[in-house]
Formats: sequence, structure tokens, C-alpha cells
Amino acid sequence: MTSPIDPQDAIPLATLRADLLARLAQPVTYDVAIIGGGATGLGVALDAAARGLKVVLVESHDFAKGTSSRATKLVHGGVRYLAQGNISLVREALHERSTLLRNAPHLAQPLPFVMPAYQWWEVPFYGAGLKAYDLLAGKAGLGPTEFLSRRETLKLLPGAQPAGLQGGVKYWDGQFDDARLALALARTAALKGALLVNYCAATDLLHEAGKVVGLICTDQETGNSHTLRAKCVINAAGVWVDELRQKDGQAIGREVKPMVAPSQGVHLVVDRSFFPGDHALLVPKTADGRVLFAVPWLGHVILGTTDTPRHDLAREPEAFKEEIDFILSEAAKYLVKAPARADVKSVWVGLRPLVKPQDDEGDNTKGLSREHTILISRSGLVTVTGGKWTTYRAMAEDVMEKCGNASLIKAILSEVTANLPLIGAGATEAPQHRISEPAGLHGYGSEQAAVQAMPGAPRLLGAGLTEAMVRFAARFEYARSVEDVLARRSRILFLDARLALELAPAVAAILEQETGLDPRLAEFRDLAQRYLLA
Ligand SMILES: Cc1cc2nc3c(=O)[nH]c(=O)nc-3n(C[C@H](O)[C@H](O)[C@H](O)COP(=O)(O)OP(=O)(O)OC[C@H]3O[C@@H](n4cnc5c(N)ncnc54)[C@H](O)[C@@H]3O)c2cc1C
Repeated sequence: MTSPIDPQDAIPLATLRADLLARLAQPVTYDVAIIGGGATGLGVALDAAARGLKVVLVESHDFAKGTSSRATKLVHGGVRYLAQGNISLVREALHERSTLLRNAPHLAQPLPFVMPAYQWWEVPFYGAGLKAYDLLAGKAGLGPTEFLSRRETLKLLPGAQPAGLQGGVKYWDGQFDDARLALALARTAALKGALLVNYCAATDLLHEAGKVVGLICTDQETGNSHTLRAKCVINAAGVWVDELRQKDGQAIGREVKPMVAPSQGVHLVVDRSFFPGDHALLVPKTADGRVLFAVPWLGHVILGTTDTPRHDLAREPEAFKEEIDFILSEAAKYLVKAPARADVKSVWVGLRPLVKPQDDEGDNTKGLSREHTILISRSGLVTVTGGKWTTYRAMAEDVMEKCGNASLIKAILSEVTANLPLIGAGATEAPQHRISEPAGLHGYGSEQAAVQAMPGAPRLLGAGLTEAMVRFAARFEYARSVEDVLARRSRILFLDARLALELAPAVAAILEQETGLDPRLAEFRDLAQRYLLA
């Protein structure tokens, strides 16, 4: 499935840092200034820019360095929400699922799932729910839910435990490459005129007469600060939104109660030999009553996830031993070849920005919803958090609508991104490649030729990564460090931390040529150790 895109897609827009910083230094009053370059902030940046608004976004680290590179990689309605009876939520997410698959077919694709049943009642019980899931999707459905015999289940799930297996249910959802999707949002917003700068933290908010009128940001590479004025300031800092809300409260003399209660989710990545099929596996009820997935992704298998309350807000949260043991013991129940600690190639952890009920006196809480939350403070600071990756676009629309209603921007009601293909979505000669298969050029979609035109195209560094891809990342994809390339432009750190360590020196040498800066190799070596299980 391919869609047309702006002709500009053929010539990638350079992301030369000196140019970005020169633009940042200009005395401009923006319509919208966004803090945070994860799914939420980037979605809002694209929506606002597509409406013709003047947009700036600052991200303290790299785009998607936070939760948005650490998802289970599912573009889904959420079978769990269906079990909770949250019909409207599931319907919206299913609608968004098909929008995303249409607008970014190189980064988000349908994926068949199988739920194996080891109790006689599981097929009719869960099957009925999954049929309802399919019905709710309506025209946005990706394929029919099917009841499977024992033999059919084993055929679709090679590697699944045959002992006691009764049958199964097959249903459809989607999968994606989260960090590259974030980048596609950033670059598409830039094509629409937005200025986006990574490694630039919002260190303070600017207030005049009790209203927020902009922010102060600091370039993390030079330490230089800039004042950005904006009619509407949006706090999309994920689990870190409360830091900015506190600053806002202090400036206007109001006490602010924290709105986020973070919860962490751990993923383990193992070799495909543990689960060699091309269908994902859903465990509908683990020992602690959650769902667990085994998802084929970029030639490996992701196992996860957990749900553990966290009170600190680490940039690189670490898995607890119990979480790792839990995932491995659940996997052992369903897979013939059970992975052990030594088989784990990478472990990574994301923080969910779960939203506490709000009773902040003076805050406008009308925007509260169970999925995502939008709060507009007395000063006019707009905070948006919660929700999920799949619904980033609908969230962005909601933010724009609320900002319009609050007269922070001109009220414009029309949808602008529903039929807006993301960069790379244009027609390509190459056959569609599956995201479940090992990474390569296909993730670049219609930009493959532009990547191949870079110096070093034939030089393979390893794991599908070429010299040309590293150069492309530095010139057109905002990459500054070895981590940016190995964690988010390619996903090697998330797939195989040891291999990422091996490739790091070669990546560092190319990046240094491109940027003339220290590519932070030593820092990357320390980081990669955390993705390895000792
Ligand atoms: C374990 C797990 C699995 C998940 N799986 C799925 C899934 O399969 N499918 C799905 O649809 N959803 C999934 N989600 C949900 C989804 O990942 C999140 O909803 C989404 O990524 C949140 O994006 P965000 O932009 O709000 O937060 P983030 O991605 O954390 O972005 C916030 C950004 O703000 C930046 N920032 C913070 N402070 C400042 C500052 N002062 N100045 C500038 N920048 C700042 C941070 O560096 C960060 O990059 C999952 C979540 C978790 C935790």
C-alpha cells in the first residue's frame, strides 16, 4: 500500500545544526511552542504546522529518547481495553490504526496475532471478544478473526508449546518502528515549515502578567540559551510534564499537584529461533492478570511487558530482576525452546505516563479523558500526556481543538493530518518489506534512493546498517551521537546490545567526519552495558 506525498519528499531537507540554531536565535513570535519531542509533542508539531501555524519544538535529548522508542511496537486498538469494556476508546484506536498504516506504510504494517488456548473454554471466551474487536474495527478491519484447530495453531505458531494445546484464535493488529516513526513525524513537520531542535532543553517558562508567553531553552551542546516567544506553549514532556507544571505554578503563585504516576514496562529481545513464525503470540492472562506478547520485530522477537509503579523518573530506567524473571517464566510456559537470561540480547524499559485523577483547583479539567489528558493552567500552559502511540494523531487534533477553544490559537476545526502521508510514504519501486523481518533499506520507504546516493552506500557496517545510512542520519535525520544512530535511526541497540557495541567505533568515525564533533562513543559504551543482562 503506498500513498502520494509532497514532491519535496524526493529531496530530503537538510538538518544542519548550525542552520537550526540560527533559526532558533531569530526574534520570532511563534503561534505554538512545544516542549518534548516524543510521539505526543511531534504529533502536535505536525498537526499545527499542517494548519499553517508557525511552530517550534524543543527536545532536551534526542527525538523519541523517552518513552516513544520503548513501546511494544503495536499499532493496536487494545484488546485489554476491550476486556475492560472501554468501547469508544478501542473504536478510536482502531480507526487511528488504519490511518497510521495508510500514512506510513513503510513504518507501520498489519501483523497477524494468535492467541493459543490451553483450556477448553478459552477459544469460545476470548474468541468472542476478538470477534467483537474485529466488528468494532468495521471498515478499518485488517482481516477476519478466525478460530483455529490445534494443528492450525501450531502451524501458525511454530515454537509454541504443543503440550495441552487445545486450539487458538487468530486476529489482526499492526506493528511499527516507533523511533523511526517519531523521526518521520519530525521531518514531515519540518517539511511543513516547523522548526524542531533536539538536544535543546526547555529550562524555564516565560511569564508576563500571569500568562505564559514563551520559554527559555538551552542548547545542550554549547550551553547557549535562547528565549522563544509563543502565543501558545505546549508541555508534551511525557512522564516529565510535572517539572514544567511546577515551574508554571511557581511563576503564578499556585500550588501544583503532580499529575503523572509513572509505571514501567520491560521488554526482552531474543533470537528468532525461540519463536520462528511470522505471527505474534498473545498471552491473554499472565500469572499477574496482564497480557503478554511475543512479537516478531526486525528479525528478532520482543517479549513483554510488565507494569511496575516507579517513583523516580530516570532517563534510562532499569529493569528489576523480578520483572525479567517474570517475563522469562511466562515465556517458558508458551515456548518449547524457553529463553534463559543468557539468551537475552537486549533489555529495555519504558515509563508510562499514567495520569492521576486531577482535582487541581483552578486548572481547567474539562479536557480530562481516560486515555490522554489535556490540562490548561491559569497561565495558559497547555499540558498533554497519557494516551498511546497509536492515537498520537487524534491526541494532537484534540490539543489543537482545545487550544482553539481557549483562544490560544485561531480556532480551526478541520482535520489536516488524516490524509497526510509521512515522509518516505511515497511510491517506491522496491517490494514492500515486512517490519517483522531484519532491518535494511526498506525502513526508508521512498527515500531509499536518496540514502543510496550517499557516499559509502555499498559499505555494510553490520546488521543491515551501511556507511551511507549513518551519513544520511547525520545530514537529514538530526543524528548527533553514536547513540542516536544505533538506538533510534537504526534499532540495533534495542535488538542486540553486544552487536551495537561492536559497530559503535565505525559509526563514531563516520559521524565525526560528518559533524566535526565528538560522537560520544564512551558514553554509548556505558549506555549499551545497561541493555545487556549481566
Ligand atoms: C512499556 C510500554 C509499552 C508501550 N507499548 C505501546 C504499544 O505497543 N503501542 C502503543 O500505541 N503505545 C504503547 N505505549 C505507549 C506509548 O509509548 C506512549 O504513550 C508514548 O510514547 C508517550 O509519548 P510522549 O511523547 O508523551 O512521551 P515521551 O516519548 O517520553 O516524550 C517526552 C519527551 O519530552 C522530553 N522532555 C522532557 N522534559 C523536557 C524539557 N524540559 N525540555 C525539552 N524536552 C523535554 C523527553 O526527553 C522526551 O523525549 C507503551 C508504553 C510503554 C511504557
